[in-house]
Order: sequence, then C-alpha cells, then structure tokens
Amino acid sequence: MNQIKTGAFISERRRAKGWTQSQLAEKLGITDKAVSKWETGRSMPDLSLFVPLCTLLGITLNELFAGERIAEENLKEKADEVLMEVLASWLGCDKWESKECDTAPYNVLEVENVSKLYENVPAGREMGNNSVLAVNNVSFRIPHGSFVGIMGASGSGKTTLLNLIATIDKPTNGMIRVSGQNIINIPEADTAEFRRRHLGFIFQEYNLLDNLTIYENIALALTIKEVPKKSIRPMIQSLSEKLDISAILDKFPYEVSGGQRQRCACARAIVVSPDIILADEPNGALDSRAARQLLDTFVMLCREYSATILMVTHDVMAASYCDKILFMKDGEIKASLNREQENKHAFFADILKKIEWIEGERYGVFEAVNP
Ligand code: ADP
Ligand code: MG
Repeated sequence: MNQIKTGAFISERRRAKGWTQSQLAEKLGITDKAVSKWETGRSMPDLSLFVPLCTLLGITLNELFAGERIAEENLKEKADEVLMEVLASWLGCDKWESKECDTAPYNVLEVENVSKLYENVPAGREMGNNSVLAVNNVSFRIPHGSFVGIMGASGSGKTTLLNLIATIDKPTNGMIRVSGQNIINIPEADTAEFRRRHLGFIFQEYNLLDNLTIYENIALALTIKEVPKKSIRPMIQSLSEKLDISAILDKFPYEVSGGQRQRCACARAIVVSPDIILADEPNGALDSRAARQLLDTFVMLCREYSATILMVTHDVMAASYCDKILFMKDGEIKASLNREQENKHAFFADILKKIEWIEGERYGVFEAVNP
C-alpha cells in the first residue's frame, strides 16, 4: 500500500464532493490537521474512521487502501492483493505509523487521580463507615504498543480499576482518557458502542459464544465493526495462522482446548484493532504451557501488531512477560517496575524483590511460580 497514493485519493474524492478539509474533518469529528496529514501522505486514518470515511467519500475500503477506483471486473483480484498488504501493514503498522517512530509513542491510556468509593457495602466488607475505597487516587499512563501488567493481592482493587477503564463502572473522582477522549462522561447509553469501537477484552472465562464456531466468533467482531463481508475471510485466515488456530476455525469453542479458546479470544480482540486490550487474569484457567503460549501471543501482538495491552494478574510468571508492572495494594499504586532490556528471568526476580519490599515479607500473599 502506498500512503501517499491513498492520501491523494482521499483529497481527490473530498474535492469531488465539494468539501474543504475542515468540512470533512467536521463530519468525522476530528481536527483539520488530521485530514491534512492524510492527504499529504504523512499519516493514515485511524482504523475506527475507515468505514465512516469511505461512506462519506462514496468509496469502498479496498479503494481507500489501493488509493484508486477499482473496476468491477478487477475487484476480486485487486481486493485480495490489497487486503494482504493491508493485513501486513495495517495490523503490523510498521509503514503506516512510521510517523510514530520519530517521536515518543503517544499514550493510549491516561489515568489521573482516579478513586472509586463503594458506599453502603454490606457488613463484613467495609473499612469503618460502611464504605470501601477500592481504588485510591491512582495515576498512570500507558504508551501505544506496550504490554503493561497490574499486580496485587486479591482485594487490592485490580478488577475495580479495570472496570473503570472499561466504562463498566464510573469513578468517584478523577479522569480517564482513552486515545485522548475523556471517557468519564460518556452517557450510559453510549458505553456499549464505545467499548465496541475502542476496547478489546480477554477474560479468564473466554467469553466466546458457544453456538458459534471459532471462525464465526472472530467474524462476529468484524461484522459488528462493519468491516465489509468480503474482507473478513482473508483477515481471519492471515491472523489465525499467526495465532496457530487455523486448524480449528470450524470447531466450536467446547471442542478445543482452553489455550486455543484464549488464542481465539486474542484473535477476536485484535482483529478489530482496538485502542487497548484489557485482560483480567487471562491465564487464570490455563495450565502453565498454555499460559506461556498465551503470554507469548500477547507479546507478539504488541510487537508485530502494535497492540497495547493492560493485563491484571497476581501471577509473577505472567507479569514477567510485561514491559512494565504497576503494583497495587489497598487500592493504591505503591510502585512500578520497568523491564528495560532485561530478559524474563531477570525481570521475574526483580518483580519478586519488589513484591517482597511492598509486602514487607518474602513473597507476601502473591503466588510465586518459577519462570
Ligand atoms: P481485586 O480484583 O484486586 O481482587 P477488587 O477490585 O475486586 O480487587 O476489589 C477491591 C475492593 O473493593 C475489595 O475490598 C472488594 O471487596 C471491594 N469491592 C469490589 N467490588 C465491589 C462492589 N461492587 N461493591 C462493594 N465493594 C466492592
Ligand atoms: Mg479481580
């Protein structure tokens, strides 16, 4: 794919509609500068804008990627050729986002002074006056393309924090931005749409639909995101090869192993290119071999597909795959640890030391597993 050609094509189609760059930007709810950058080939539209942009310009996705009109009779051949390129570079992002390479990566997630107070908690769970401060004045940022872990003992507030970021719950105080958008004030009725457009989820319990095949489970995510039908199969085929699930695409979730189901959940999460993937104890139900394969998959998604992943875990082995760890205790982030250039084993040892320091005792209440 040629970014400059695509940019020139956007420019040409915009003029044909009689719109200025500002008018197009306004229709898409973005800045004029973004449109100007696309048109001069300096950047590509955000994935979430592909469909609305094509609809506005009256072109197909394939035409956008090819940077030209595609005659009906060449459609099949051209579409396949373009899609393969798209898969290689769009999900891989190395060409499209080369602009990011010169500058520091932007923060996909910004959490500022976030607290969550649960009031009127049933007796037995409260800390004093019937309330629990599950998350206490937490701030952190997650750069694009990184794999960040949140560790903490049971009850330290990990799931609450993840639910706040997932718009499943609202904070009592503070600000959360996903790709620059403040998500705190999204009306309740719009949260499902926001999650569908911007977030990917991988939970312990797989969350696959049992009466759909693995293929259909992944395809469903693309259909919801309005990806054209003919693009779906090549996208899924290419991604499943990477995730080693091509052989099981026609099986139902109950016919495959836990590890395969989780890799299918990964495929479903990444294929729609969410801003961030949220994973809560994703390896919790897996044996150690399947867990390692899943964690390797996460690392691969970050490196090769520029995914940004935030994973909650209490497992040191799982955490040792991350680029950075945030340590939670009693609702607060007590410390953080960057992996820098260390290998997994050295990082594993550092994580243990940090936990020891936080807990003031060897291994504390975390589960220690050898890497
Ligand atoms: P973790 O995921 O680290 O185990 P949680 O976020 O689930 O921790 O819980 C943090 C604290 O908040 C705990 O004390 C828990 O009892 C409390 N909590 C979690 N959810 C609720 C809720 N819906 N209502 C009241 N208290 C809650
Ligand atoms: Mg939890």
